[in-house]
Amino acid sequence: MLDRVGRVEHIGVAVNNVEEVARFYAEALGVEVSEPEYFASEGVKIVFLPTNSGLIELLEPVSETSAIKKFLDNKGEGMHHVCFEVEDIEEVMSRVAAFGAQLIDQTPRIGRGGKRVAFIHPKSAHGVLVELLENKKGE
Ligand code: ZN
Repeated sequence: MLDRVGRVEHIGVAVNNVEEVARFYAEALGVEVSEPEYFASEGVKIVFLPTNSGLIELLEPVSETSAIKKFLDNKGEGMHHVCFEVEDIEEVMSRVAAFGAQLIDQTPRIGRGGKRVAFIHPKSAHGVLVELLENKKGE
C-alpha cells in the first residue's frame, strides 16, 4: 500500500532568540512552551510549542555554521520548514526521488527522539523546505 503522508508533525520557525519568541507565544497567545533544548549536531537551540494539531518548533542558531544562521542572514526570522509524519520514510523518499524532486538527505538522518528524518529541497517543493519524520504505527 502506498505510504501516505500523515499529519503535520511540526512547523519549524527560525528566530534570533527562542526565549523572546517563546514569551510572545506564551503571554500573547497563551500557548504552552517547553524548556529550551540544544541540538549540537544541528547547531541549534529549540523550544517546542505543543498545539492540538502538532508542534511549533522555534529554532535559534547557536553556531556560525548552523543552517538556521544562514537562513536568518539571508531571509530574517520566519517560517523555515514544514514537517510531515510518514510511516515508512524510505518508501516516501524513493517516491520523491522517482518523481524527480531533489532530496537533501540521500539516507535518513537521526532527528529528535531518535526518529528518522529527511529533508526535501525547497527548490523541488515550490519554495518550502519539507521535512519527513518517520513515526511507525504504534509508536
Ligand atoms: Zn523540524
